[in-house]
Amino acid sequence: VAPVRQTPVSSGDYDTAYSPQVRRYLRTYGMSPPAHESFETQATRCMKLLEAKTTPIEKFMYLTQLRATNVHLFYRLMANHVKELTPYIYTPTVGEACQKWHQIWTQPEGMYLSFSDRGHLHTIIQNWPHNVEITVVTDGSRILGLGDLGVNGMGIPVGKLALYTACAGIRPEATLPLCLDLGTSNKALLEDPLYMGSRREKVTAEEEKDFLDELMAALTERWPGIVIQYEDFKNPFPSLERYQHTYTMFNDDIQGTGAVILGGFINACRATRIPASEQRAVFLGAGSAGVGVAKQLVEYFVKEGGLSEDEARRRFWLVDSRGLVTNDRGDTLAEHKVYFSRDDNEGQQYRSLEEVVEYVKPTILMGLSTIGGAFTPGILQRMAELNEHPVIFPLSNPSSKSECTFADAIAHTDGTCLFASGSPFPSQPHPTSGKLLTPGQGNNMYVFPGIGLGAILSKAVNVTQDMIYASATALSQSLTPQEHADGWLYPDIRRIREVSVVVTRGVIRAAQLGGVDREIALRGLSDADLDSYIQQRMYDPFKEGQLVETELRELTGSLNG
Ligand code: NAP
Ligand code: MN
Repeated sequence: VAPVRQTPVSSGDYDTAYSPQVRRYLRTYGMSPPAHESFETQATRCMKLLEAKTTPIEKFMYLTQLRATNVHLFYRLMANHVKELTPYIYTPTVGEACQKWHQIWTQPEGMYLSFSDRGHLHTIIQNWPHNVEITVVTDGSRILGLGDLGVNGMGIPVGKLALYTACAGIRPEATLPLCLDLGTSNKALLEDPLYMGSRREKVTAEEEKDFLDELMAALTERWPGIVIQYEDFKNPFPSLERYQHTYTMFNDDIQGTGAVILGGFINACRATRIPASEQRAVFLGAGSAGVGVAKQLVEYFVKEGGLSEDEARRRFWLVDSRGLVTNDRGDTLAEHKVYFSRDDNEGQQYRSLEEVVEYVKPTILMGLSTIGGAFTPGILQRMAELNEHPVIFPLSNPSSKSECTFADAIAHTDGTCLFASGSPFPSQPHPTSGKLLTPGQGNNMYVFPGIGLGAILSKAVNVTQDMIYASATALSQSLTPQEHADGWLYPDIRRIREVSVVVTRGVIRAAQLGGVDREIALRGLSDADLDSYIQQRMYDPFKEGQLVETELRELTGSLNG
């Protein structure tokens, strides 16, 4: 009797890449069309179908359906087209998908936990049918820059976990998208008959805290060692402070963003050769991203630049909607801004970015303000006058919110700037030499997959700040000699799986140095051996068929023998 697999049938089991023997073993024989297809044939069909969809949201929906009906094919397609497809499974399309989630929803893809479920979270979590290694959790209260979208925010955990799988090879069934239904302040959604969350106002911060306490305990009890990534909470700081030392958790909006920008910034600093003590950084925007990034750069100036923390902190001038953040501005500063608030402005108030640039004479200009075009031609020209190679990072998303475009930055600095943006921009010819210049994109997907995989493989007790920092330095070292020679600040995103291995290794090493790793067998491995260990542990959608065939051969062998 031929062996038959006992595990429940999953969507990937209907893959037309499977041979008839495998189909029999998986109990899916007769349930897919007879053809035994190559990936090229499958991909041709998928890409044609995708092309036939005319709007981004239709492409998003097609890809969602593909993931639900043939998960391995979806990830094979992602592996070969990561640059083209990411905009349809994550930003910018995921933003529109979340806005319309209640209109386009067709199938469950994660867990929803409501405030009314409190006291029972542990029991409800038992319903999830797989063993989970990582979860992304949101309460939907600040989805991208789109405000409170309630349970429509589910698109974010779903999309982000798809990137964990595509970029770092975390097995799809080991990921849990989690959306907390804690009410919403979004009036339009509350009144929309199609809205699928609880029809109640957002719970209080205190109620949310108690709910999260129960959630963290319940998740960790069911899956000890689970990595928990927080995403798109309106106020992300309290939960990070509360849980980062007690659970294996991190916040990508703060820590992932800080790390990815630091990764590109390290390469920019190497290129300008300006010592940390002479750097002056102006930040337009002092929100969670701005402060998160600035704190990460402070750590770099301390660790690599030999400054004290206080000296490093004073290299930063933060600007918010009311101007330069100073102690004597006459307003009560939000708690997260106090660390960078200046006391040396001698009674002067600087309101506009022009005034601040004139006053500080910065070497570095970062934008995390959500104000499109805020880096005006005049400001860019002034940066070029002040610096041989000004560092210009307009990081706000989407492209329409970017503080300047790559074309503007090149034009108004005469091609001298070192540039990275949050959103993608096309390459530009150098104004005089005509050489094609490629902009860097500080996309969090360079680091969070490796942070997650590093924490999983090292079985880290916590995600320490050293592990986050290591993800940034590893990213900065992941460029090929050619990429460095071309002046790139970030590696080619098409090499993301290779880059994720380097980042994962850096994260694991930092866990080991900090003594938070529980998989102590990895401590003795050389870097090369650790890299191959990581690669072996990564889900490879191209090898799925082979794996099942090997499993089958082994079983048949043991039956015969
Ligand atoms: P946020 O919390 O809303 O912060 C926005 C900040 O900009 C606030 O400090 C705000 O000032 C300030 N601001 C608003 N209007 C301004 C104006 N006219 N002039 C000067 N400052 C102004 O948002 P966030 O979460 O920090 O995100 C900010 C941006 O960063 C978003 O566009 C996001 O897409 C981007 N981001 C990029 C990456 C990446 O590239 N990897 C990652 C994360 C976030 P007040 O404090 O006075 O309100
Ligand atoms: Mn986010």
